[in-house]
Amino acid sequence: MITLSKVKKVYETKANKVTAVKDIDLQINDGEIFGIIGYSGAGKSTLIRLLNGLELPSQGSITVAGHNITQIKGKALRDARKEISMIFQHFNLLWSRTVKENIAFPLEINKVPKSERTKRVDELIKLVGLEGRGDAYPSELSGGQKQRVGIARALANNPKVLLCDEATSALDPQTTDSILDLLVDINERLGLTIVLITHEMHVIRKICHRVAVMEEGQIVEQGEVLEVFRKP
Ligand code: ADP
Ligand code: ADP
Repeated sequence: MITLSKVKKVYETKANKVTAVKDIDLQINDGEIFGIIGYSGAGKSTLIRLLNGLELPSQGSITVAGHNITQIKGKALRDARKEISMIFQHFNLLWSRTVKENIAFPLEINKVPKSERTKRVDELIKLVGLEGRGDAYPSELSGGQKQRVGIARALANNPKVLLCDEATSALDPQTTDSILDLLVDINERLGLTIVLITHEMHVIRKICHRVAVMEEGQIVEQGEVLEVFRKP
């Protein structure tokens, strides 16, 4: 479902070149929760931006949900990107809009009619456990509730893949666990593929099926979580 083959990304500025990722060969299966772990600067964010079509690789090819996102452009790329959704460490909510309006935002962009939008937003609010908070503003919510809004918004257009960029790093341990439980629930109920990047071992151990370890732009190890992190 997600395939990266010989992927390399070099950032070129006037002054220098930075190889952010290289020699990346990776396959992520449908319905899998796949973790990418590594220290700061290892290349995790670059990899997730490549999966999202936000960056193009300098070399190699990337296929996500049946789309060769390194070959397509324009409308085809925009359509492919509807099937790939993302949540963020700092939630990226619209602060002047309510919970319902935040969740409806991607539906508006997709020109979904009002009545259908209202129905879909209600379903999503239930799915993420925000009943009764639909008219609140983000500033009135806890960190965990804000991430629930982020998740609902990310699921609005029924994506096939959910990318999570340090999605629990701004949360306390207990809230982290409740958000991870929600991600597992969504993975099981919707059959969605989840790719998450993190620097926290706990996150990987708690929910991931398989993991890749990144160091200096390369995957240095990958496999089942229990194999990769077998306790001595
Ligand atoms: P991580 O997410 O694991 O912290 P990143 O992908 O952000 O790693 O960074 C990998 C390397 O690429 C780092 O050396 C970083 O400084 C560099 N880098 C990331 N984004 C850019 C950019 N837009 N321009 C130039 N260098 C970048
Ligand atoms: P948490 O409850 O998880 O600590 P915060 O309320 O601190 O989350 O918000 C996380 C991020 O959102 C921070 O980067 C913060 O700057 C930004 N943020 C919070 N409230 C607002 C706001 N009213 N307008 C713009 N940005 C905000």
